[in-house]
Amino acid sequence: MAGTTKEAMMGRADDEATDSFELPGVPDAFQRLWTPHRMAYVKGGQGQFKNKDECPFCVAPARPDEESLIVHRGESAYVVLNLFPYNPGHLLVCPYRHVPDYTDITPEETAEFAELTQTAMRVLRKVANPSGFNLGMNQGEAGGAGVAAHLHQHVVPRWGGDGNFFPIIAQTKAITQTLDEVRKQVADAWPAR
Ligand SMILES: [Zn+2]
Repeated sequence: MAGTTKEAMMGRADDEATDSFELPGVPDAFQRLWTPHRMAYVKGGQGQFKNKDECPFCVAPARPDEESLIVHRGESAYVVLNLFPYNPGHLLVCPYRHVPDYTDITPEETAEFAELTQTAMRVLRKVANPSGFNLGMNQGEAGGAGVAAHLHQHVVPRWGGDGNFFPIIAQTKAITQTLDEVRKQVADAWPAR
């Protein structure tokens, strides 16, 4: 990918907003490109969120979907677009309860957590045609969790060659697609119950 193209694509990025941010993974150009412009997520540095008032995953459901980037609300858990995606369409499945560990959720919550993960994959396949996925939970700060205090499952769509730079969806669509638009696309494709 030519540097000029990359620079152009990253034109909207706000370096300061992301560079100081300890991302839950390996930082790369995606985070810069996808820097939000009005998201009430995490601001002013990272740190681990000890109480619910400052926990982004507790705060999000209290806000409108468009603002919180929520794509689906279930009974015990919800699905939200990651503000700092590894790839376009990177979703997070979060229980509403502020618990840190996978062993903390009840059998009922676990069932819905799994079901939402499956549906997230189906929806992403439908709207973005990924050729693979990474699923996972980082447990604890040592496990690499960006927000260790609140359990969340990553659902990351993968395309061949996306490790180098942008996958097909990004080259054709996401360059001009805002997080708002991606959110709406995924939310609209989410099956009604
Ligand atoms: Zn929380």
